[in-house]
Amino acid sequence: MTDTPALPPPPGDLALPERLARAIALGGPIPVSQFMAAANAHYYATRDPLGTAGDFTTAPEISQMFGELIGLWAADLWDRAGRPDVHWVELGPGRGTLTTDALRAAARAGFAPPVHLVETSPVLRARQAERVPAATWHDDVEDLPTDRPLIVIANEFFDALPIRQLVRGRAGWHERIVACQDTLFLPIAGAAVPDAVIPDDLRDAPPGAIIETSPASVGIMRVLAARIVAQGGALLAIDYGYEGPAIGETLQAVRGHAFANPFEEPGERDLTAHVDFATLGLVGTASGASVAGPVGQGAFLTALGIGARAKALGPRVTTDRDRLVDDMGTLFKALSIRHPAWPQPAGFA
Ligand code: SAH
Repeated sequence: MTDTPALPPPPGDLALPERLARAIALGGPIPVSQFMAAANAHYYATRDPLGTAGDFTTAPEISQMFGELIGLWAADLWDRAGRPDVHWVELGPGRGTLTTDALRAAARAGFAPPVHLVETSPVLRARQAERVPAATWHDDVEDLPTDRPLIVIANEFFDALPIRQLVRGRAGWHERIVACQDTLFLPIAGAAVPDAVIPDDLRDAPPGAIIETSPASVGIMRVLAARIVAQGGALLAIDYGYEGPAIGETLQAVRGHAFANPFEEPGERDLTAHVDFATLGLVGTASGASVAGPVGQGAFLTALGIGARAKALGPRVTTDRDRLVDDMGTLFKALSIRHPAWPQPAGFA
């Protein structure tokens, strides 16, 4: 009788790093996008990462003013659109703070739509249910209702979606892939990609240059833009980002409010990448939507009246206002797309 080697345990029983290492050992290195998707799915599914005790904080967690101003932004737009019945949608709502603050402020203007939250994490769904118990949850934007215009808000959502990286080699461009030695994950250049997929003006970048794209973000934006053009409504996306495509690696990891190596400890660090607002805007235009922005978050919140709101709340919110308007004022940007017959939203003068 020959000794048969013990079969490895089924992947479901392994922790994520071991599962990824095994997948790479069996099938070869995986694209950066697949690594990021697996890492973030595990990360968000297993914890509430927000707040001082967590890994990072976001604008709605810094101050109630952020959500309130977005609620008034939506109520004003809805009012000027003729007060139709609409659905309120938030993508990746975290603790549900933005929607809570927004709809509390908007209710005073008579705006009280049904709430739809697109969220994949069971842990965060539970947090959201404490604050917005009447919401309806969806795994995917495809599942959103089709019967009314949609007002869609996405704050720090697109930055969490997987990106693809292309790296310039000596002779041309390559997909960037993640290899694994023992338990060490490291990015390397993979298969060559045709020059035609690289924008003309970036093609001759020096060896080592990186271009990022986010097919997942483009896919979600395309679905939402088509829905808004068919059903009416508008979308507001706020995130840190740039107007690309551009050379530069922005993939980053944070843990405990500090930057970390994005290729270490997959699933235990928050992976994000800067959002290419030019591409998101182009998807909107190509789908027949009207586009406003991007503008800096500082200019956007100032146009919506954060100065007056901060004054009304008193000196205790001065530092919060400064963080939202000055510290996060230009790297963070706001972009809106809308049905072409809907009015131009506030904040994009
Ligand atoms: N918008 C919140 C939370 C930002 S963190 C805030 O500003 O505080 C990113 C959020 O997106 C989390 O709620 C996370 O669970 C969710 N998320 C990440 N990837 C997602 C995906 N593919 N589909 C739906 N939600 C996702």
